[in-house]
Amino acid sequence: MFLCKKLCNKCLLKINGNCLKGLFCRVLYSRHHSTRRLEEAYKLTKTKCQSKKLPRDVNPKAVFACNELDLKEVKVYGFDYDYTLACYKPSLEHLLYNLGRQTLIEQYKYPAEISKLEYKPNFAVRGLHYDIEKGVLLKLDSFLQIQFGTVYRGLTPLSNEEVLNLYKNRIIPIAYVEGHTKNAQLILQESQSKMVQLADLFSVPEMGLLCNVADYFEKNHIDYHPEILFRDIQSSIKNSHPVMHQIVGQNVHDYIESNDKTRPFFDKLVHAGKKLFLVTNSPYHFVNKVQARKPRFFTDVSRPIRVFDEQSGTHIWDRVTKLEKGVIYYEGTVKQMQELTGWRGHQVLYFGDHPYSDLADVTLEHGWRTGAIITELTHEIATLNDPEFKKNANWLQMLTQLIEDHQDCEDPEEQKILAKWMAERDRLRNDIKYVFNKQFGSVFRTYHNPTYFSRRLFRFADIYTSNLTNLLNYSVNHTFYPRRGVMPHEYISYFV
Ligand SMILES: [Mg+2]
Repeated sequence: MFLCKKLCNKCLLKINGNCLKGLFCRVLYSRHHSTRRLEEAYKLTKTKCQSKKLPRDVNPKAVFACNELDLKEVKVYGFDYDYTLACYKPSLEHLLYNLGRQTLIEQYKYPAEISKLEYKPNFAVRGLHYDIEKGVLLKLDSFLQIQFGTVYRGLTPLSNEEVLNLYKNRIIPIAYVEGHTKNAQLILQESQSKMVQLADLFSVPEMGLLCNVADYFEKNHIDYHPEILFRDIQSSIKNSHPVMHQIVGQNVHDYIESNDKTRPFFDKLVHAGKKLFLVTNSPYHFVNKVQARKPRFFTDVSRPIRVFDEQSGTHIWDRVTKLEKGVIYYEGTVKQMQELTGWRGHQVLYFGDHPYSDLADVTLEHGWRTGAIITELTHEIATLNDPEFKKNANWLQMLTQLIEDHQDCEDPEEQKILAKWMAERDRLRNDIKYVFNKQFGSVFRTYHNPTYFSRRLFRFADIYTSNLTNLLNYSVNHTFYPRRGVMPHEYISYFV
């Protein structure tokens, strides 16, 4: 006969004053036993987590490798200009926003009241998608899943239920997101895609203006078409670039971070016999070098390269048969440049901040090696290095494992404990998201998955870092080796 003294002492179910020591007690005992088993497992895991040494800080100035890259093989270094060589201060976002807002009112006749809508600097992050049909800004992961809590209409987040009502599913079909073209820049013009990804840093103030104006329309019950709003704002910001170039040109120190390491970096490369070139969309008078009209520079098969005469400020019609040091060239294609210089794929390392228009074509079509300059890494790594974040991230990982190991119990009492664990896990996941950006979380992760943006970054960039001059910390013969990550089917070990 089964006997549980502890339970029998408390047991209220008695017949003729005698405690039932049979089946009922056995059920009670086994429940008590199994819930205690879960509680003990939780305590043990928590103790283990607290005893674990926190990981070492990540160096915010490190260069990170997605693919092995031997700098000895690199003979030519190429650079994009905006946000690669020139790092803009946050004041530039305000300037672009204000110029775009002014254009919206003056040229597109938007209500004058929008002039009161001020830029909210930390509202959006790079890499989000805007749905031109449904008029929402949202964050997708690499599986095209929506991250709940990151879908905004104007400045208002949509509830999970509203998101599911809108999309009927958490996963978005690829044709809806990407259309049928491989080139992200052309998505809107040439495909059936309903989404556009805002993948460069100039698009951050654009998103800010979009959300502010949409919010104004929503709150004032003004009917609007999200696609028209998107296109008007995109044109307004784009049309503001010449004025922006003028203003920045006159007040360089107000808008561009001065970096006293840029010159030593170039000197080091030149001293090592490397060739350097700059390819940019910004005009000559602005960057004092080259204009190329990317991404067509990287994708067009036929478009003549032209010489720009600095003195007269005009293009010369002569055929270009060789590239000369100090001469300024407009347009052309990467194919022509390779033919004129004799440079070949793996000898060229090109740096840009835009994973698609700067890096995708040169690596996919021409086999160039690529480096991405991602300024957000400074803030992301500072957040990763916060001890509180490390503790939360560690505990989240261990709690998730605990849930996975115990989830199959069917007893209602055990299920209650599991529900408590799940609620704690949800809270932790939100805390971890919130510290990067209140609305959209990290640029690189949606909870545990990589974001749509980072998956493509890791595909198109051989290396990435927060600032170009971080390369000064490495020799010109350095080899960057990627970390051997653990695949889901591989064993867990500290040595992989
Ligand atoms: Mg750029």
